[in-house]
Amino acid sequence: MGWSARADGAAGRVGGSGAVSAAAPGGTIRCPHCGKANRVPSAAGGSVRCGNCHRPLPWITSAGDDDFAEVVERATLPVLVDLWATWCGPCRMVSPALEQLATERAGHVKLVKVDVDAAPRLSQRFEVQAVPTLMVVRDGQVIARQAGAAPLAALRTWLDNAIGAPGTPDDRD
Ligand SMILES: [Zn+2]
Repeated sequence: MGWSARADGAAGRVGGSGAVSAAAPGGTIRCPHCGKANRVPSAAGGSVRCGNCHRPLPWITSAGDDDFAEVVERATLPVLVDLWATWCGPCRMVSPALEQLATERAGHVKLVKVDVDAAPRLSQRFEVQAVPTLMVVRDGQVIARQAGAAPLAALRTWLDNAIGAPGTPDDRD
């Protein structure tokens, strides 16, 4: 596997709002290829793969003020950051689209949800004035950002422009 065994208490904090569908409680993600439930850490190098069929898994997790550096800034994959709030209607619409993109681009991007009400330092640092605010972070740098919800196709184009997919070297053969 491409990641070391660091599936500790940092994983599995997604949820509580009912807005998250692909990431089950307990930090497990069901493989879209074979259906196996895999335990996935919040922070690890590289990408995550299914323990059964070894294909890339959609990596969907969450972070807050205390673990943003580890989960997002030190990630080796580009990270799609969803700054959202429980009371935000558009967030609930955009969330499934982001999970869809994380599934389509499995192995190329990591989706990290940040509940802005639970992460005041991050909200201040990134000057979040609207939710959802979406960012693409690569090597700790924000390389793309947009505020407000958008349709899946628009989000896909935005994400692909930022991360350079499809047509990434891994896909070429
Ligand atoms: Zn699988």
